[in-house]
Amino acid sequence: MNISHPSASRRSFVKRLSSGVAAFSVAANFPALAIGAENGSRKKLGIALVGLGNYSTKQLAPALVDAQDSYLAGIVTGTKSKEAEWSQKYGIKRTNIYNYENFDSIASNKDIDIVYIVLPNSMHAEYTIRAANAGKHVICEKPMALNVEEAQAMIEACKANNVLLSIGYRLHFDPNTREIMKVAKEKPYGNVHYIQSEASFIMGNNLKAWRLNRELAGGGAVMDMGIYCIQAARYATGEEPIAIRAQEYKTDWEKFKDVDETVTWQMEFPSGAYSNSTTSYNIRSNRLYISYRNGSAQLEPATKYNGIKGSIQDRLLEPQPINQQTRQMDGFARSIMEGVPSIVPGEEGLRDMKVIEALYRSLKNGGNRVLI
Ligand code: NAD
Repeated sequence: MNISHPSASRRSFVKRLSSGVAAFSVAANFPALAIGAENGSRKKLGIALVGLGNYSTKQLAPALVDAQDSYLAGIVTGTKSKEAEWSQKYGIKRTNIYNYENFDSIASNKDIDIVYIVLPNSMHAEYTIRAANAGKHVICEKPMALNVEEAQAMIEACKANNVLLSIGYRLHFDPNTREIMKVAKEKPYGNVHYIQSEASFIMGNNLKAWRLNRELAGGGAVMDMGIYCIQAARYATGEEPIAIRAQEYKTDWEKFKDVDETVTWQMEFPSGAYSNSTTSYNIRSNRLYISYRNGSAQLEPATKYNGIKGSIQDRLLEPQPINQQTRQMDGFARSIMEGVPSIVPGEEGLRDMKVIEALYRSLKNGGNRVLI
């Protein structure tokens, strides 16, 4: 890997960047009816992917090929060999290719409307703030940041630069997940009183992976997959949790010496609803169960890229032939063109960061109840 990044000074860098937003600010694109490339008769907004790892390579770039309102206009990579490879494969102009050193000069590139941060978690805040300071709208992957303080700085930087911020919560664009959200809103079966959610996978054996490094990942399974359980409990109830208790289990002390392996937690909601969730880097599970006063719903798988399916009472929720990522990026492009906030704005990511901070506080004090 040919990457240079001064991660040691990241924290102070984020502070410096966010406090200097006004000074760095360039003419903002928002409201943005006049931007984007004319592509046939339809206007499309140009996206630059920052970080060409697994998710960008296997999901986001292919999803943009079929997009209607957005397209892959640029890339930001620290790996020289990827420049020609991606340029050839996706027809990306040489002038739209950046590395981590010259990234800030993206400010003057009119082809790029949206910068999409797909880097290790510890780099989300820094690159979101730099993109906002460059006057670009931003999509930032989940988890939005390492903590609440960073998340707030990211929201502030986007506001100060008059650009929109969206978090990579693709499930909000999945039709079956949206059915669950609709039931939470309309309550045809009464209030939710119990939610069970699980999101886990079995981590490979590369001990150098950034997901196993606390400094780069900020935590383990909770940050990566547990965030889906928090999201599910929140959108299945339509409420914000008020208290949490968490318990941790470890079976592989070598692999997970730095980050959490398996965590189970319970959340209380204002209506009296209660959730129980488990996330793990050493279990195979992916489901959501909701018990309403007069019915139930379930999704399994609940968070995968394809084939989300389940039922609400007797109604089957069949897998939908859609691409979540295409919808997510097109959805954000339309928000920008219409001058309305993303349906998953920075504030949505911030709420999850508050829950995660409370969860880790509970783990630290032996599983005691912590107010959120
Ligand atoms: P990855 O390891 O495959 O890719 C990370 C990229 O960051 C690589 O291109 C790597 O070269 C680059 N990088 C730059 N500096 C680095 C450093 N110091 N250390 C390591 N890599 C560095 O990771 P990924 O699976 O693509 O995940 C990237 C982000 O996307 C994460 O925040 C993850 O949570 C998120 N993600 C979201 C989804 C989703 O469904 N929304 C799915 C997968 C990943």
